[in-house]
Amino acid sequence: MKPLTIAIDGHSSTGKSTLAKQLAKALGYVYVDSGAMYRAVALNALRNGWVSKESGAQASKINAHVEVLVIDFELDQKGVNTTLLNGEVVEEAIRTMEVSNVVSHVAKLVPVRRHLVALQQAMGENGGVVMDGRDIGTVVFPNAELKIFMTASDEVRAKRRKAELDAKGQVHSLQDVLENLKSRDKADMERADSPLIAAEDAVTLDNSSITREEQFQRVLGWVEDLQK
Ligand code: C5P
Repeated sequence: MKPLTIAIDGHSSTGKSTLAKQLAKALGYVYVDSGAMYRAVALNALRNGWVSKESGAQASKINAHVEVLVIDFELDQKGVNTTLLNGEVVEEAIRTMEVSNVVSHVAKLVPVRRHLVALQQAMGENGGVVMDGRDIGTVVFPNAELKIFMTASDEVRAKRRKAELDAKGQVHSLQDVLENLKSRDKADMERADSPLIAAEDAVTLDNSSITREEQFQRVLGWVEDLQK
């Protein structure tokens, strides 16, 4: 049976990566976290002083350097997906609020998107991939066999994200977390290039009031239908 390409897009903190990892594990597919790649570019820009929350991105600097960055993934000793930037493990560093606060400034730059999209397409060229992000079903894999667009209420998303940050010892108010989610969604939906939008043939999945397991079983059912 031909391995499928599964594209998962949606708003911030809707559990895209949780679902994508569950599916990849169950199906024996590769999981690619495209958001981690934008976060890695943003981390590099932050470290170099090329972006700030208030004044946005210095586009020329970031664009000129994006192609020399080496961004890839490996599984750590526990089998957990880990992001590498120029060989350095940056999995924790890219998940901080500092990076979340600037990543959308970086993700709207056209040369950054062109470069990362080409890398993502190469990672999934043989199918058997689950990729999550904002433009996977619309731009990266417009021919994906299954496209899912995830959403959930603001309250549910903010609480989930805060719990994730708290668990890592990064304490922020619920209000700050919610503001970051909303401002990222707004920037992602309003950018000119590859805005966050559901592909016409995507299935919408609102998980405000279903459990992870219910969601997983529902999506597995969709996969099985496609494989019949
Ligand atoms: O998925 P995650 O929340 O980690 O993504 C971080 C940011 O990266 C998003 O808010 C968005 O600005 C950007 N992104 C994107 N296109 C993707 C994946 C992420 O623009 N395919």
